[in-house]
Amino acid sequence: MTDSEHFVLHEAGHWFQWQLYKRHLPEATHCAPHYVERRSSTTCAWTEGFADATAAYVLGDRRYVDESGAATSLENDATTPEWDPGDEVQGRVGSSLLDLWAKDGPDGGDWKRTLRLMATEPSDDFREYFTVDRPKASPPLTTTGAAADILTGHTISTR
Ligand SMILES: [Zn+2]
Repeated sequence: MTDSEHFVLHEAGHWFQWQLYKRHLPEATHCAPHYVERRSSTTCAWTEGFADATAAYVLGDRRYVDESGAATSLENDATTPEWDPGDEVQGRVGSSLLDLWAKDGPDGGDWKRTLRLMATEPSDDFREYFTVDRPKASPPLTTTGAAADILTGHTISTR
């Protein structure tokens, strides 16, 4: 599917996480098939959500556009119809990451601090990334205030 920039960069996102985790990826369960707006598992949503977010972040385009040109928006909130809630949903995880990395977001305006953290603290899922590993960053990445509001806005628990 080399006509889809998002597909190519999504797969590059898997490579990138593999490299950051020193040639390892969390075992992703209930992952075939997986959909942006549907519940899979926390491990699947973390790896696929990171890959979706990588493509959207690099392209500056919060959609997933396939090789036919059909687009799925990653934008969602608590009222988005037909989206499953929670951190087992890759689109919920991916859009939360994009908001954390946004120019006016709580992580300093880009994804660099997350990448640095990932290189030292691999996370099995988004919950571990947010609740356990972000506080270990130097300096710590916030898990309250605007960061917590981002997760809540995407129906993800902050605990
Ligand atoms: Zn994938």
